[in-house]
Amino acid sequence: MKKLEMMISNEFIQSKTQKYFDKVCPLTQDVQVQVPLCTNEEISDAIEKAHTAYLSWKDTPIMTRTRLMLKYQALIKENIDEIAKILSVEQGKTFDDAKGDIVRGYEVVEFACSAPTLMMGETVEHVSNKMNTYSYRQPLGVCAGITPFNFPAMIPLWMFPLAIVAGNAFILKPSEMVPNTTMKLAALFIEAGAPKDLLQVVHGQKDQVDALLDHPKVLAYSFVGSPAVGEYIYSRATANLKRAQAFVGAKNHMVVMPDANKENVLNALVGASMGAAGQRCMGISVALFVGSSREWIPELIAKLKEVKPGAWNDKDANYGPVMTKAAQSKIEGLIQSGVDEGATLLLDGRGATVEGYSNGNWVGPTVFTKVDVDMAIYKEEIFGPVLSILEPKNLSEALDIINNNMFGNGTSIFTASGASATRFRREVQVGQVGINLPIPVPLPFFSFTGWRGSFYGDLHAYGKQAITFYTETKTVTEKWFEDEESEGVAFDFKADHSK
Ligand code: NAD
Repeated sequence: MKKLEMMISNEFIQSKTQKYFDKVCPLTQDVQVQVPLCTNEEISDAIEKAHTAYLSWKDTPIMTRTRLMLKYQALIKENIDEIAKILSVEQGKTFDDAKGDIVRGYEVVEFACSAPTLMMGETVEHVSNKMNTYSYRQPLGVCAGITPFNFPAMIPLWMFPLAIVAGNAFILKPSEMVPNTTMKLAALFIEAGAPKDLLQVVHGQKDQVDALLDHPKVLAYSFVGSPAVGEYIYSRATANLKRAQAFVGAKNHMVVMPDANKENVLNALVGASMGAAGQRCMGISVALFVGSSREWIPELIAKLKEVKPGAWNDKDANYGPVMTKAAQSKIEGLIQSGVDEGATLLLDGRGATVEGYSNGNWVGPTVFTKVDVDMAIYKEEIFGPVLSILEPKNLSEALDIINNNMFGNGTSIFTASGASATRFRREVQVGQVGINLPIPVPLPFFSFTGWRGSFYGDLHAYGKQAITFYTETKTVTEKWFEDEESEGVAFDFKADHSK
């Protein structure tokens, strides 16, 4: 069985550990690769080398740093099919969805190519008598990233390209569920001409993350993953007086107003709730059908019955398996809890099968109505193809529901009323807001920040250090329609609906 290498000093080398994690295929349960749980010495060595690399990289001309990113983004595009295949095989998502994952990632690398402008400082002449002040940005040193399984390309690419172009060095610890995509991205980074030791890739689980968190030469951490792990990592990093940001769980609501275009609503909801098997932090897991829009629910169910899971290379599959058998059991357990707590199960995805893959982690489209905010299916992040429907009387009631949820990552409203849209975007307490589109993921030149329980840390003091307005940032993405689209835009699972 193949043992995965680490990437240290631009070389792919075997760990000396005796401990490995067997990473299995979500379609078959066959072991695909053995992921080393790297030793403390290996992690410490990677950090020390990265620190040395940082000392000369920080003084490397900014155009040299930018050219590395220009070359890198081109290489990712040239190799997108190969990366997408690696990604689909290990993660299970469909080939087209895998490409969307990579596109979202290389957009960040393209953004990193604006480094000379992004790194500009500020100057004010005559702040006092014959006195000027100017500020400029300097890199911190060695930074680290810990990434989840659901976006194997996009999330590592959220992290190291920007950190490195700014003059830092970076240690990446990818999810042990999807490490091969990261290794391919690392190989392309070397091919792009990355100086040795700027990016190091180590593998492991809690113990390896602890070694990163406690090493005095790692000064900042980005984490994306589940709420409990995010809370742990954020607490331990900040207890060590380090900078940290943790992007965690979500429960995203879509509000359907009775004046919305029915076809647009239903098509958007099908894709946003079931796409990627519901394993997107910006996917929709709760639909709020306001007032008479509830009459559209039977048509939604009819459309969802046509949605089918399948293997990554099956062109007719709408989504793939969930990541692990443990995730499948958790999802099935939560579906049972919904039944036990009195919700109405209109569509039950348990026991779904796919020909040729009897051992796959399949969950079919699942829908509950009569859901109450006290039920586990409403409160917990299910991270599967399960949609809960609530029926508030009006927009005020819908806003109350959303603003009282513990998470605040993404949300959307479908309406033809400018007044309702404006009120919603002003009053909703969520980081990413969509108007007439279901998954409002901002492009990299905007902030991506959850509110409340979806994010720990503070990005908004950026550039201002201790002097901050203490605000949250909200990004709003809205869609408008041409006349001929007013009858409803078909939802395309194969389009890029990443996240
Ligand atoms: P996870 O928390 O299980 O794992 C994430 C990373 O943390 C992995 O690299 C893993 O090895 C490591 N890890 C796991 N347990 C750890 C521990 N005890 N101590 C230290 N490190 C540990 O998350 P996942 O299942 O891979 O990802 C799914 C979660 O990610 C969902 O909750 C989803 O909402 C969230 N997510 C959030 C965003 C966002 O932007 N808010 C984006 C994508 C995914």
